[in-house]
Amino acid sequence: MAEKFEFQTEVNDLLNLMIHSLYSNKEIFLRELVSNASDALDKLNYLSLTDEAYKALNYVPRIDLAIDKDAKTLSISDNGIGMSHDELIENLGTIARSGTKGFISKLSGDAKKDSSLIGQFGVGFYSAFMVADKIEVISRKALEKDAYKWTSDAKSYEIAPATRQDHGTTIILHLKDDEFADEWRVESIIKKYSNHIPYPIFMDKTEYVPPKDGEKEGSYESKNIQINKANAIWRVAKSQLKAEDYNEFYKQISHDSHDPLLYIHTKAEGKIEYNTLFYVPSTEPFDLFRVDYQSGVKLYVKRVFITDDAKELLPSYLRFIKGVIDVEDLPLNVSREILQENAIMKSVKEASVKKILSELGKLKQSDKDKYLEFYKLFGKVLKEGLYGWGGEKESLLDLVMFKSTTRDGLISLKEYKDAMKEGQKSIYYISGNNEKMLKSSPLLESFKKDGIEVLIMDEEIDTIVMPMVNEYDKTPIKSVSSADIDEEIGVKEESADDSKITKTIIKLKEILKDEVKDVRATGRLSDSAACIVYDKNDPDYAMQQMLKQMGQGDLPPIKPILEVNPQHELLIKLESNEAAIYDVAEVLLDLAKLNEGISIKNPSELSKKITKLMLKAL
Ligand code: ADP
Ligand code: MG
Repeated sequence: MAEKFEFQTEVNDLLNLMIHSLYSNKEIFLRELVSNASDALDKLNYLSLTDEAYKALNYVPRIDLAIDKDAKTLSISDNGIGMSHDELIENLGTIARSGTKGFISKLSGDAKKDSSLIGQFGVGFYSAFMVADKIEVISRKALEKDAYKWTSDAKSYEIAPATRQDHGTTIILHLKDDEFADEWRVESIIKKYSNHIPYPIFMDKTEYVPPKDGEKEGSYESKNIQINKANAIWRVAKSQLKAEDYNEFYKQISHDSHDPLLYIHTKAEGKIEYNTLFYVPSTEPFDLFRVDYQSGVKLYVKRVFITDDAKELLPSYLRFIKGVIDVEDLPLNVSREILQENAIMKSVKEASVKKILSELGKLKQSDKDKYLEFYKLFGKVLKEGLYGWGGEKESLLDLVMFKSTTRDGLISLKEYKDAMKEGQKSIYYISGNNEKMLKSSPLLESFKKDGIEVLIMDEEIDTIVMPMVNEYDKTPIKSVSSADIDEEIGVKEESADDSKITKTIIKLKEILKDEVKDVRATGRLSDSAACIVYDKNDPDYAMQQMLKQMGQGDLPPIKPILEVNPQHELLIKLESNEAAIYDVAEVLLDLAKLNEGISIKNPSELSKKITKLMLKAL
């Protein structure tokens, strides 16, 4: 007796999309089904090597494709782990994996837009409903004796007892049209997407047999042959691989339909033996900034797939990397703990990080445009690596790039250093979240006057990591809002001479004592009357905002320092007009704050005061 089931709501949404999809690249359904078959073989392979109960299973892993032109069906079989009754419900009736959930959360309801997402996400089993109006899945779980058949027309599904000779799964697609009931078409799709899955794929293929002696004409014969290469590409010598091979394998493991930006293939021999094949994608993975992002790196031990769910294989700032790590000298039953603490894994990880960073460095040298393409996609993530102090900090500092006050585009710290003025002691930066505002900050006045370049850090991540980076290549890195850089930037003593405005400064300190740490004369301003800076050891405003966002808002408010320009007419006039200081002090402070994008306490109070001043002036 068949049991009837309804799909989970999210699955219904997804199926509706699949059926009404305008997605032109429907052929990817085969990649998805073959990759599921390959995963199922991986799982059983692993168990049969590590678990006594499975060791007695006698099977040769394989995937079989069969086409029935008359019935208009295409079937995909594997002798992998198989699914039990309950697993059929769980796996093919609900959506478990976070990737697909992410996909659904992005659906807009606009068929055209949503269709293009299919390719981007690679949405697994359900994509088969793009080409089939009915699907049967017959499965028997390894070590179990009962088999079950799952059948669905995409509206609901049913499960009934079935018979199946050996363990594994067969998926029968009742095709909507003939396109995929064609040997040549199917073979070419396999070659395109699944050539390098590690298991052989067989199919009946009609071949021309030339005439034998005495015969006039040749004949056509159907033969069951292997149609993929089935090699673990990461173990093949570089010299035997072409860019196409690498790109094809990338598409298979990443579900990305674009070629990767870069591939990095390494064979390590010697004390520790391993093979790695890493890819830098050319598009942003949708979950790049999600906490529950999927690791893109699969771990193999001696060609046996172990896990694709170990985020610790690479540091999280390299989470955009896809690929394979295959280690020789580990036990097959590696556990999470081993992954984290094992000395071999540690050195493979270290060497991998080093290699990836050095290849990115090489790319930066050899092909700046391509590097910038990479950097636009993943620069922000890479910068996260500067947080803390991993051994890779130096190489990371060579890879990061910033905007600048004197040049267009992005420049590296090295480019900055190479262009430093004689006598310039530090690398300077200004940080905040609005590039325009930063560029017109009074804090830059003396830098502009002296032609000193300042890096513009307008990304959130800059604010977090830059205070942790004290120097680059022995040159200190300093914020222009730091109070201690006056002498460094060659501000002349006399321009900061406050002898003409001593009374004003004393009065300002008195009036503003609750709001500022100090009031002092500065030589760093030329056009502006005042500016806000922070004590050397205090976080600047952008950093304070960041800390607040990160939930550390209950820190005591950090008072800024008000610096005034003793050459400015306003200050000089105030010195002889003590009464006016009371009208002006708050306004001076508020305007200096606004210049730096710092929010002010009481805007309506400010406008009242300014109105009063305007009235006086008229
Ligand atoms: P994913 O492969 O990313 O998990 P899919 O939608 O492709 O997502 O497949 C859903 C689940 O169905 C798989 O995780 C797996 O548990 C199960 N499954 C699909 N095909 C097979 C198969 N041929 N053999 C065993 N299990 C399978
Ligand atoms: Mg899948």
